[in-house]
Amino acid sequence: MSTSTFDEIGKVLRKHQRFAILSHVRPDGDALGSQLAFALSLEQLGKDIRVWNENGMLEKYSFLPRAELLSKPPATVEEFDVAVALDTAIQNRLGNTLAAIGSAKIWINIDHHGSNPGYGDLVIVDPGAPATGEIIFNLIKSQGLPINHDIAENLYVAISTDTGSFQYSKTSARTFEIAAELVGVGGLDVGKISQQLYESYPRRRVELLRELLRTMRFSECGRLASFSLSLKTAAELAVLPEDNEGLIDHLRAIRGVIVAVFFEELADGKVRVSMRSKEEAVDVCAICQKFGGGGHTLAAGARVRGTLAEVEQRVLEEVRDVLKRQS
Ligand code: 5GP
Ligand code: MN
Repeated sequence: MSTSTFDEIGKVLRKHQRFAILSHVRPDGDALGSQLAFALSLEQLGKDIRVWNENGMLEKYSFLPRAELLSKPPATVEEFDVAVALDTAIQNRLGNTLAAIGSAKIWINIDHHGSNPGYGDLVIVDPGAPATGEIIFNLIKSQGLPINHDIAENLYVAISTDTGSFQYSKTSARTFEIAAELVGVGGLDVGKISQQLYESYPRRRVELLRELLRTMRFSECGRLASFSLSLKTAAELAVLPEDNEGLIDHLRAIRGVIVAVFFEELADGKVRVSMRSKEEAVDVCAICQKFGGGGHTLAAGARVRGTLAEVEQRVLEEVRDVLKRQS
């Protein structure tokens, strides 16, 4: 659905001075890495940049080069020439960063979620891209924008995390070429980055996994697996929202499982639903859209009002229907 070209965006980047660079609430490595890489490239061009996320920088990603550039938005309002939304399927997932943008002459929307409706003045939505970081790399290269070690490492982390460490199906020859170029140009230490990303979890995350596994349930002859996290358990373990990232993969990794679902009770009377599929024919984005969410065919989510038990029942019922039609 890409409606703008890199050249159009490049022109806007060169012409204007004040930029706000934003991404979605509860950010992941793709969101934060893309934000920092894009901001650092603009910084090299001498632009004024603000890099905001509702949640600020996460402890888990605080090793990212120039992580200190990214902050929670201020309580006051600022004026911009250009606001850029990265990796954000729907504008309201920018959360409270929106309130800090007094005005922006131009909105740019760069994303890889198929469910992105294409909000903004200049839009590049490429559902074929495995990570927003890959689109940012292509934009930087096509426009001859600056790239250095810090930019390369942020892009590498964006791509590594959103491809499940180069495993998911959208990982292409092009993805490896880009990764190779980033490692080469940036002189990146892949072993060290991987350790920071995948072997530096706090112990409470594994304790959380232990509790989740206690709630693990299967149905549809093992094709549907789910687990859930109550507010009570989250409080007892003192987990942070970011501790959840990737835990659903333990369900997806089970032989025979086609759909994995993670339910997390939230403090606002809603339940966060996280869903994964192992078959293109089982579109979890479509299921999540029925509950007001979105995402990708194989990885999607929603926030659904109701108690944990109610939401579990409604959502699993819907997944079962889809799986029954499938078999
Ligand atoms: P995760 O399960 O890792 O939180 O999210 C998987 C994918 O679904 C991500 O690409 C994310 O952007 C999308 N997603 C998760 N929650 C929501 C939601 O509440 N609304 C929408 N539109 N997308 C979501
Ligand atoms: Mn992404």
